[in-house]
Order: sequence, then C-alpha cells, then structure tokens
Amino acid sequence: MRCLITGGAGFIGSHLTEHLLGLGHEVVVLDDLSTGTKDNLAAVAGHPGFRFVEGSIVDAATVDSCMDGVDAIYHMAAAVGVFTILDKTLDSLRTNLHGTESVLEAALRHDVPILVASTSEIYGKNTSDGLTEESDRIIGSPLKNRWSYAEAKALDETFAYLYAAEYGLRTVIVRLFNTVGPRQTGRYGMVVPRFVDQALAGEPITVFGDGQQTRCFCHVHDVVPALVALLADESAHGTVFNLGSNEQTTILELADRVIQATGSTSTIVKVPYEQAYGAGYEDMQRRIPNAQKAREQIGFQPRRMLSDIISDIIAEKRAH
Ligand code: UDP
Repeated sequence: MRCLITGGAGFIGSHLTEHLLGLGHEVVVLDDLSTGTKDNLAAVAGHPGFRFVEGSIVDAATVDSCMDGVDAIYHMAAAVGVFTILDKTLDSLRTNLHGTESVLEAALRHDVPILVASTSEIYGKNTSDGLTEESDRIIGSPLKNRWSYAEAKALDETFAYLYAAEYGLRTVIVRLFNTVGPRQTGRYGMVVPRFVDQALAGEPITVFGDGQQTRCFCHVHDVVPALVALLADESAHGTVFNLGSNEQTTILELADRVIQATGSTSTIVKVPYEQAYGAGYEDMQRRIPNAQKAREQIGFQPRRMLSDIISDIIAEKRAH
C-alpha cells in the first residue's frame, strides 16, 4: 500500500512512518515543519519507499498533489502543545479546523480511507474515572484560549463522522490520551520530555499547579500499531476509539520518578498556573481513558509501563 501521513515529521507521525515502511508499505509524508522536524525522519530519509513533501494541510492543492496512488491516509498533522495553542491561538485554530477539512475533502475526492487523530483534550474538564467514547465534554469558556484546541478537534471529529455518515467516506477517529516517548519535544509544553530535560540538566523540575493533577501516559510504540490496525479494520470505520493507558500518575509523582530514574540532583519547584500559562488558564485535574472499545476491536493493550517510558526517553536524550 501507499500511505499518506500528514504531520509525518512530528513525534507520533515519524514513528508511524517508520512502522509502515517496516511493514513494507510506501509512505508519503506531508508536513509544514512547524513543530515537526526532518531530524525525526533521519532514519528513513534514504528509504526507497519514502517521499517527503513540505507543505501545509490548509493548502488544498498541496494536499491533492500528495494523493496519487494513495491507499490510506493517517491525518496526524495539527497545531499541538499547550504553549503553541496559547502563543498562536488563531493560527492553530485555522490549521486544526481548515486543515482537517481540506484533508477530508481530498480523501473524499480520491475515495481513500482516512484515520483522523483526535485527542482526550476534547473531554475538557470531565474528570470521570475512565472516560469512554460516549462521555460528555465539559469545556470552559470559548474566550479561554486553551479550549480552542478542544473545540477545533471536536469539530474535526464531527466533520470526519459526518463525511462517513453522509458521504460514505471510510473514516476512523482516534482519541489519543497523553501519548509520549522518544522524539517528543518539551518545547511546546509536553510534560514528560520537559521533566527529563530539566532533570538531565540538573535544573529545577517545574511542576505546574499543586502537582496533584493526574494523567495516564501511553508509549508511542503501543499507540502506533493500534492506528494501523484500526484503519485496516473495516468494521472500525465510521466511529471513534480511545487509545491510552490506564496507569495513573500525579504530575508530582512523575517529577519524583524522573529524578530517581535520572539520578538527578534537581529539586522540584511548584509554579502557579498563572505564571506558567498566563491568566485565566484552566487545567484538567484528572484524565483517565477507558480503552475497552479498542481492546475489543483490535486487542489494544498497552504493554509499556511509565517506568519503560521514562527510561526510553532518558536513553534517547542521553544518546543525543
Ligand atoms: N506540566 C507541568 N510542568 C511542565 C509542563 C506541564 O507540571 O513543565 C503539567 C501540565 O500543567 C498538566 C500536565 O503536566 O497538568 C500534563 O501536561 P501536558 O501539556 O504534557 O499534557 P496535557 O495537559 O495536554 O494533558
């Protein structure tokens, strides 16, 4: 098969690129290198089945030019990271809304099945134990910039769902819950690479808020094969799946574990949200997936624990 990966130079997209090439498929990557980098694709740059196109998903002509002979689309491109969303709110909104619509339009024109990457962020402030695909969204004011990401991704889901329901496009939506692993950068806000960078540099570990907020981190190597399995499974089309781990940690515990795993002399400092993100920021205190539906559909079962995730990220950063 020939696969198009939008955002293939990003953290998850580059792992997906390697995985699909490893399975013997051809891969075309479309990426504007806004948060992704060519370094992420260094290992596949000379592969005969690989082609890189630099361009934006918002540009319909560019998207269309990548579609020749494509059998499957993984739409991973998005403006991501809390710092990105807060710094470039309007640009991010445009990319995440118009970009997805343009990729869905191209998929429809060429009648190609498409996986649309969404996010647990769409649940907003719903702190229920085990968020299912049917759980409600509890979103703050539209004037609080953070929520514009959740709004855009939720509308992307609705677009994808309606392209399937009304036009018969073969779509799968996945909601990713804190996917982490090697190559993820802390530059745009993601907590695990930030803590590892800080610990390796012997700098204070910056825990935002009181550190009691919880997350479940899932290794990218557990997520990537699930993306491929879901798009390949026709009975998964037209619906949405949560993908994440159920191993919970508070952010304070995460900081302690990173310090222990690196043997760092770093201390932990608590930084008020307002100082970290600006006035009016709202965090979600708890975000735990229920991934039962993906387990039943494709046998999804994350195998790597948080300790594996932390040690893989440390090893990658030490190697660099
Ligand atoms: N966080 C933190 N210190 C940092 C970066 C993030 O304490 O240097 C916190 C952040 O406020 C949030 C959690 O870590 O409560 C996860 O943040 P991330 O941006 O990685 O993911 P998300 O908030 O989207 O789950």
